[in-house]
Amino acid sequence: MNAPDSAFAFDADLARAADEIEPRLVAWRRDFHQNPELGNREVRTAGIVAAHLRRLGIEVREKVAHTGVVGVLKGGKPGPVVALRADMDALPVVEEVDVPFASKVRTEWNGQACGVMHACGHDAHTAILMGVAEVLAGMRDRIAGTVKLIFQPAEETPPIGEEGGAKMMVQQGCLENPDVDAIFGLHITSIYPTGRVGYRAGPMMASADDFRVFVRGTQTHAAMPWRGVDPIVVSSQIVLGLQTIVSRQMNITKEPSVVTVGVFHGGVRHNIIPDEVKLEGTIRTFDEQQREEIHGHVKRVTEMIAQAGGATAKVHIHRWYDVTVNDPALTEWSLPSLGRIAGADNVRMIDKVCGAEDFSFYQKEVPGFFYFVGCTPPERDCAKSAPNHSPRFYVDEACLKLGLKSLAALALDWLAAHPR
Ligand SMILES: [Zn+2]
Ligand SMILES: [Zn+2]
Repeated sequence: MNAPDSAFAFDADLARAADEIEPRLVAWRRDFHQNPELGNREVRTAGIVAAHLRRLGIEVREKVAHTGVVGVLKGGKPGPVVALRADMDALPVVEEVDVPFASKVRTEWNGQACGVMHACGHDAHTAILMGVAEVLAGMRDRIAGTVKLIFQPAEETPPIGEEGGAKMMVQQGCLENPDVDAIFGLHITSIYPTGRVGYRAGPMMASADDFRVFVRGTQTHAAMPWRGVDPIVVSSQIVLGLQTIVSRQMNITKEPSVVTVGVFHGGVRHNIIPDEVKLEGTIRTFDEQQREEIHGHVKRVTEMIAQAGGATAKVHIHRWYDVTVNDPALTEWSLPSLGRIAGADNVRMIDKVCGAEDFSFYQKEVPGFFYFVGCTPPERDCAKSAPNHSPRFYVDEACLKLGLKSLAALALDWLAAHPR
């Protein structure tokens, strides 16, 4: 059993409190949705979160990793420390969802004009954790231990040239003082219907690194290619060469991986062979060793193919997020709590996800469990639902209550099961 009987004593109260707070969850979410802020710019959002936590009598630390907010909710009895995490940032996307609270915000991202939209559902995550804070604050006297509420900026990566996100939150001590023993987090997804919870033990989401390649040839007249070195032909061979890394060089029986080239820029005129081509792409893996291996292959394949064509290539690889690895024991432990809240039939093991999450940086420090909560209305076909990051990403707000109850139950059960 994952939780002692004392934990179940909370269930009725939790259900009642969640019902009661649901209209405000929706209101908070809509307010954040209508006023979205990009990574490291979540000033308004963070202000609302901090004021809410203070009103509840929760100790608050602000401006962690620029705009992060960390709340420390001390229970009435001594015990361990469990952390819950929500991300607060929106994306540079022009909203196309037809709701009265759709975002009309326009701003700039890395020097380019853009719209802003909560197209990944972080508005829901922030509202859910505010709700959890209020519900748990109402039970404070009966809680044995401490709940840390981590509201994190810039999950979608900060603007170019800035640091931010979970990595910076950890560097600035969000898991210390008091030291966190375990951490939980969730993500809403349109892949599943409302009511469904998806989980996976071990590697669940991929590592994400990007690479940039500059292939240098020698510019010449397009009618006389022998007078120069054509970086477009060389780069085309590089693109194909990179596609042989996963298919020919990686042990795919161990873990899957992906190498994609998403940018291919070169040339200004049909009759000029340019000097240089720029390629950009992404590398996804589910294993740290394979990640290192692929980095080596990308460098070697690119440089050697360039050399074979008489060109030179410079490869830059930027490491973004580590593999999101759910602690197997903590995952196993979490399932009964999720089953109790969502119904056992609704809690399903899922395939690996090639998207990445900076929740992985918390999991490197303490055991962590990250799971998905469906947000597509049950009457709609999930296979046709707009994915997260789409301008048409739609959230069935009925998912908010399940998000709140599941996170709160995990925290309460975990504290009750680990008395000090
Ligand atoms: Zn996202
Ligand atoms: Zn997200």
